[in-house]
Amino acid sequence: MKVRRVAVIGAGTMGNGIAHVCALGGLGVSLVDADAAALDRGLATIGRNLGRQLARGKITAEERAGALARIEGGRSLDAAAHADLVIEAVPEHASLKREIFAELDGVTPPGTILASNTSSISITAIAAATGRPGQVIGMHFMNPVPVMKLVEVIRGLRTSDATTAAVMEVARALGKTPVEARDFPGFVSNRILMPMINEAVFALMEGVADAEGIDTVMKLGMNHPMGPLALADLIGLDTCLNILEVLHRELGDDRYRPCPLLRQYVAAGWLGRKSGRGFHRYAPPG
Ligand code: NAD
Repeated sequence: MKVRRVAVIGAGTMGNGIAHVCALGGLGVSLVDADAAALDRGLATIGRNLGRQLARGKITAEERAGALARIEGGRSLDAAAHADLVIEAVPEHASLKREIFAELDGVTPPGTILASNTSSISITAIAAATGRPGQVIGMHFMNPVPVMKLVEVIRGLRTSDATTAAVMEVARALGKTPVEARDFPGFVSNRILMPMINEAVFALMEGVADAEGIDTVMKLGMNHPMGPLALADLIGLDTCLNILEVLHRELGDDRYRPCPLLRQYVAAGWLGRKSGRGFHRYAPPG
């Protein structure tokens, strides 16, 4: 199946990045968010990030204009009615994702592929909320989407070969490198990353070093491009907590228990870059 038109559900951190790369890759894009202010912020972020790419000589003025012209915003899932591929990027809650997939199953044509950008939730379980489990798949982009090359492609138990092939082809056409993973909690990326971030938060809570010190050790000592606490701030501390809760519950092992300090920061609304404060401080969003 040739994908020409996508709908991206959720215009937050990931959704606006996914819409950005799809539009730049020549696909028609409907970007949908239930919250009008979030939709406006997402569209504004795309405009700003395309402008930055233009200023750095990464894209031409025509490419920027073409990408912007290919994106339309919407508030309702009905905007997915003409999509060949839907990529869902709403918050990491299984019940919300299942509700959205059930609704998408009703509004999209039978051939449409329904993908989730979930970081940790079972694709098999999301697929079971639809009447087309063979066409449901995980398409896990990395943050920031316009920069990061990887797309983890997660096959649910019933995902078909044709769906997998179509999604691998879309990822490659967008200039990404897709890697297939099995449908286990956290897949490959977050199964390994989140315990490291959680351990960094424990080290902070226990006073082993301050946030700057922990990040510097991992950057200079392990050659990581950014420290684990700065990376958690980039991902969003609420998203990190949600992923750890899925790993803890689904794998049933206490080594994945979320650090109490992470819970406390999320409860305080210190969510990382998107709220202006996490383990580090940032200029207000926008
Ligand atoms: P976010 O909170 O930044 O954005 C989510 C958006 O979804 C918000 O704008 C919200 O208004 C919207 N939304 C909520 N309910 C909706 C509904 N019913 N219909 C339409 N829109 C709705 O979250 P995010 O960080 O972009 O994460 C989205 C997904 O991507 C999650 O599953 C997350 O695990 C995954 N993910 C996140 C990262 C990351 O670094 N943040 C990386 C890879 C994958």
